[in-house]
Amino acid sequence: MKSINNYDFSGKRALVRVDFNVPLNEKNEITDDNRIRAAIPTIKKIVDTGGSAVIMSHLGRPKEYKEKYSLKHIVPHLSKLTGKNVKFAPECIGEETFNMAKELKPGEIMLLENLRFFKEETQGNREFAKKLAGLGDIFVNDAFGTAHRAHASTACVAECFEEEKMFGYLMEKELKSMDKVLNRAEKPFSAIIGGAKVSEKILVIEKLLNQVDNLLIGGGMAYTFVKAKGGETGSSATEDERLEIAENLVSFAEKKGVNLVLPVDNVIADKFDNDANTKETPIDKIPVGWMGLDIGTESVELFTSVIKNSKTILWNGPLGVFEMPKFEKGTVSIAKAIAEATTNGAFSLVGGGDVVGAIKKYNLQDQVSFISTGGGAMLEYMEGKELPGIEAIRGNKINH
Ligand code: AMP
Repeated sequence: MKSINNYDFSGKRALVRVDFNVPLNEKNEITDDNRIRAAIPTIKKIVDTGGSAVIMSHLGRPKEYKEKYSLKHIVPHLSKLTGKNVKFAPECIGEETFNMAKELKPGEIMLLENLRFFKEETQGNREFAKKLAGLGDIFVNDAFGTAHRAHASTACVAECFEEEKMFGYLMEKELKSMDKVLNRAEKPFSAIIGGAKVSEKILVIEKLLNQVDNLLIGGGMAYTFVKAKGGETGSSATEDERLEIAENLVSFAEKKGVNLVLPVDNVIADKFDNDANTKETPIDKIPVGWMGLDIGTESVELFTSVIKNSKTILWNGPLGVFEMPKFEKGTVSIAKAIAEATTNGAFSLVGGGDVVGAIKKYNLQDQVSFISTGGGAMLEYMEGKELPGIEAIRGNKINH
């Protein structure tokens, strides 16, 4: 496989799939440019070493052209970050775009209009992918966030390039971090899994139970485990049809010798609101009409002590409803404990949309080892699934 670091881009036109799916405000200003910044090393490598770059991305989930989702809003900022006058192709395919790409000179950058203005993108249409492929001599995939989708611009386009394809720097870093955690984790290895529902994380929990020493479970999903053990969970967010699965996961953890840690106490509220009345109770003694919305003081101490003794840490999913200040203490404390363990030499991988938001909210983004840019893609990779966008670069045939 080709590597971006060794590749000679001089005189080459690189077609680069990035993830510029960034949040914009009502004035179409970018409110968080991390995803754009994350792709800059790849773009700079190409244009600083004599190549030109045709950049493509999606933005939002439009079904047809909508000005709000136009990638033209990104052009000024991309120009600023690259120090180049970025050209804009008003469509991602078509004659005009093809000619603009052909005329690109070494060092120049062109951004294509939103791929999802064509339904063929998400359909994984091969004809559409071929048209995209015609815009470059070489394909670089740097969009980890969409790697689990068999879309035209991720998997299908890569299949149009026999040899001339590679991962970008960001994608390489994502894969390296996950490989470090999944295959070369220094022990003790602890995973902290939170979030709303256990149903979305069953597969990843099952997979992780083969690897971790400690599995800490928090957030809404903890209540399904508590209820399965016969605890009183009030109106907490349990998934009653998953009680048996939760029990099975607990037995599997025992069989594997994994220390599965559930919260022992929690902050409960009489309504799902920051103005609710709150109090702390044992996790399995929640009165009727009350719901658990954050882990409690003792649980924070328990989780923190495990995290402090870990050499590898994986975090996915918040420990409580951290969007409301009254229920953020668990998530803040765990984020801080992970940052501290990282300072003391642990490797920490943080991923999943909500925890990325939390880490940034508490300004700890520079104190963890790696923040994944792909929530869904990261989970699927960790479940052991083959991601179409990755396999297509590796040259493996996939069914899609
Ligand atoms: P996920 O996308 O599965 O990682 O879930 C993230 C969401 O879970 C966040 O929006 C949190 O507010 C929510 N969450 C965390 N803890 C709880 C809880 N105890 N009850 C209800 N929702 C929760």
